[in-house]
Amino acid sequence: MEKESFVVIGAVAAGMSAASRFRRNKPEAEVNVVQNGEYVSYGSCGLPYFVSGLVKELKGLVVYDATFFKEKRNINILRWHEATKIDPDAKVVLARNLKGGSEVKLSYDKLAICTGAFPSKPELPGTELKNIFVIRTAEDGIILRNFVDEEAPNKVAIIGAGPIGLEMAEAFSMRGMEVTIIKRPGSILKMFDDDMTKMVEEELKVKGVNLVKNAIIQGFEADGEGKVKAVILADRRHETNFVLLATGSKPDSRLAKEAGLRVNTDGTIAVNERMQTSNPDIYAAGDCVGQKHLVTGKDVYIPRGTTANKQGRIAGENASGGSDSFDGIVGTLVSKVFDLTVARTGLSSSEAAAEGYDFTTSTISHPDHAFTYPNPEPEDITTKLIMDKKTGKLLGAQMIGKHKTMGVAKRIDVFATALQNRMTIKEINTLDLSYSPPYSPFYDNILIAAEVALKKLRT
Ligand SMILES: Cc1cc2nc3c(=O)[nH]c(=O)nc-3n(C[C@H](O)[C@H](O)[C@H](O)COP(=O)(O)OP(=O)(O)OC[C@H]3O[C@@H](n4cnc5c(N)ncnc54)[C@H](O)[C@@H]3O)c2cc1C
Repeated sequence: MEKESFVVIGAVAAGMSAASRFRRNKPEAEVNVVQNGEYVSYGSCGLPYFVSGLVKELKGLVVYDATFFKEKRNINILRWHEATKIDPDAKVVLARNLKGGSEVKLSYDKLAICTGAFPSKPELPGTELKNIFVIRTAEDGIILRNFVDEEAPNKVAIIGAGPIGLEMAEAFSMRGMEVTIIKRPGSILKMFDDDMTKMVEEELKVKGVNLVKNAIIQGFEADGEGKVKAVILADRRHETNFVLLATGSKPDSRLAKEAGLRVNTDGTIAVNERMQTSNPDIYAAGDCVGQKHLVTGKDVYIPRGTTANKQGRIAGENASGGSDSFDGIVGTLVSKVFDLTVARTGLSSSEAAAEGYDFTTSTISHPDHAFTYPNPEPEDITTKLIMDKKTGKLLGAQMIGKHKTMGVAKRIDVFATALQNRMTIKEINTLDLSYSPPYSPFYDNILIAAEVALKKLRT
């Protein structure tokens, strides 16, 4: 009897989680993973720190390499292979060898599509010029880092002001460049409330980053060699040595669509809670699929590495005969923007308004730890809560504080847990949280934020 075969397309967060879980449950099966580049199982989240030079070599981002997977897990990774077609009737995946070899035909019993996302580029004249970069894959990171190392540019224009754009601003600034962020109309970090992002704008100013807001970008201007030399705005030209497009990403559902699988209107591959596509033998996970938002109950596309790993594991579990499900997300995010840590979970005010909630908000600023532990001196953390007036339930939370306090990243997780458990502000106010002077004020910021929010709800 032939061995059972599991094929995975994409070997990063979701793909390698799926392959590893399948292998653990089915030690005798054949597991093949197709990846269209050199690197596998790496943390894209660390790419800004690779470009900045904080992470010296790309292998510093690699969790396990292809040799580890082969030798320790008996998972075969076909690197530099592009899956070009899925034939669901024949249960076959075709893959092209990008180094020039022959086409490979992989038969599967179960398949997982973990193709991730690709950068969403604005449709503007000149987007394809030389020295206009994106940052998505390890290979993108290497191209960008080599360019910076070799050309030593003085000026960069970053298009887009989401978390990746801002993390890259810090990376380029660390490399000694003059950094300009060009942002179309709307606020920076749009998943935060405007009063919170004001603090981030102030931080960018202090760190010497030029922020061009409300920009209408008309295209990019080339020099004689076809390299970008300026960003053309409605009212002026902005000269630059190179451009980074940090304008978001789109789910890569192309293969799934061509194979006749159901694809949602937002481009994500349709899956059920078991991560199963419209074909029961084909699973999909990670940035190529969406998620259910546990606050609104609606389908959303909020791609995150943590989600991709969990979904991949669940796809591998179910493909190997198990029974697990991915319930959803609450949209939690944390990011380092120079000396600040910015974090959020749940709904922002504008999202709560769009969902029709009758909500109110309250904001506090409170020290991250007790004044009785002065080394380092306590630093304020600003905490904003968004809550439903009718039920008293938390709808969302946002926190900003100095990076060195480290207190923002973990505290937002308490709010995320509260959201996932549909807790009211009153219940949050009764949480039994830890206290010791180096770590927390006597009443933790979470409890004080809830106490103040409760008063607001009662008025
Ligand atoms: C700069 C940056 C910073 C980030 N920071 C964070 C963070 O701090 N926290 C967080 O939670 N998330 C972060 N993310 C998001 C996170 O990296 C992604 O959510 C995660 O990588 C998704 O994993 P994935 O396996 O679904 O997809 P991907 O990482 O996109 O991997 C899919 C892989 O499949 C390959 N592939 C696609 N099609 C084919 C094909 N036909 N044949 C062969 N191979 C194919 C792709 O080239 C890609 O390498 C960040 C992302 C970036 C780019």
